[in-house]
Amino acid sequence: MIRGTYSFRMPTRSPMDSPLARARRVVVKVGSALLVEAATGRINRTWLETLVEDLLWMRARGQQVILVSSGAIALGRRQLSLAKGPLRLEESQAAAAVGQIRLAHAYKELLEGRQVTVAQVLLTLEDSERRRRYLNARATLETLLSLGALPVINENDTVATAEIRYGDNDRLAARVAQMAGADCLILLSDVDGLYTGDPHRDPDAKFIEEVSQITPEIEAMGGRSASEFGSGGMTTKLLAARIAVAAGCHMCIAAGHPLHPVRRVQEGARCTWFLPSATPIAARKQWIAGTLRPAGAVTIDPGALHALRAGRSLLPAGVTGTRGQFERGDTVSVLTGEGAEVARGIIAYSDADAAKIIGRQSAEIGDILGFRGRDELIHRDDLVLMQAART
Ligand code: GLU
Repeated sequence: MIRGTYSFRMPTRSPMDSPLARARRVVVKVGSALLVEAATGRINRTWLETLVEDLLWMRARGQQVILVSSGAIALGRRQLSLAKGPLRLEESQAAAAVGQIRLAHAYKELLEGRQVTVAQVLLTLEDSERRRRYLNARATLETLLSLGALPVINENDTVATAEIRYGDNDRLAARVAQMAGADCLILLSDVDGLYTGDPHRDPDAKFIEEVSQITPEIEAMGGRSASEFGSGGMTTKLLAARIAVAAGCHMCIAAGHPLHPVRRVQEGARCTWFLPSATPIAARKQWIAGTLRPAGAVTIDPGALHALRAGRSLLPAGVTGTRGQFERGDTVSVLTGEGAEVARGIIAYSDADAAKIIGRQSAEIGDILGFRGRDELIHRDDLVLMQAART
């Protein structure tokens, strides 16, 4: 075994030890080249049925599953009889509009035939980059999952302009994994993982089973995968890996062509795993603690400080005042009456709304504000205690 940031050893994990088996929330991404038959431009139905069975198999054992599916453009271009070769932006957008409805229909048919409600979510780059849109998308995903639906996500290709486009679903899937706090992301692809070189050209190219750190050496292995339909190569997969591991999510690149492509991963099929540096919650908390300039602050009473120390959320009742201007979703400081910063967290209300509900019971929020927001001003998952609180 070669030590360092990657290794060439054979799989040693037992199936139940796989990050996939241990995950609570899993995002699976399927590429266009898998879904759409090259010869006919139609959905590869037999394969898709086995993918759906795998998703249901994960759900049956209590895992929450999100699917990120490409294929809209590949399906739509055939329907519109667009010629082979690269499409202009407006042609891909037209193809996506035609193809997405077919894609959604196929998933609806297959999943609802198995009594699972499918939800279509179309996202743009802006939805993951702009804080408020990010939070809205996150809340929608959370609600769908808690209601037992299976979200099927694609980029909203018809409205995304070139500058605000992901263009590939690898990064989109990684953002979704981050947004949803998923602990495992599986990229099903036309390659079975990462190699030290291009395995088609370089007979000495070695397969990499595990990457514990994405070093410049690993990035140099990017290259591109030659695929007629997909737009992501190894480069976008490595970019996706960066996002996923920083968010505390395991990521795996695996061959998607075989039947039951997800189950195979757990059973030890060859694939490359990228290891996260922390859990999703720890990664999120690190990000909160590292905020350079909190937008504002709230001051709390000793009872609330006691609750925070015990690992509980910050409720409006324990807050005595607000400082500065902030929006829902901003990071704010939590201060004692004496002004010591004891915590930081993502606040669920704007400064104006917060000012109205502080000191009040959560049950009164709806009446005071005219809408029912969260019971907590800062949820414990969004809150990190600073050193001052621990002493
Ligand atoms: N969003 C595109 C589609 O559904 C695919 C992007 C990709 O190939 O990753 O056709």
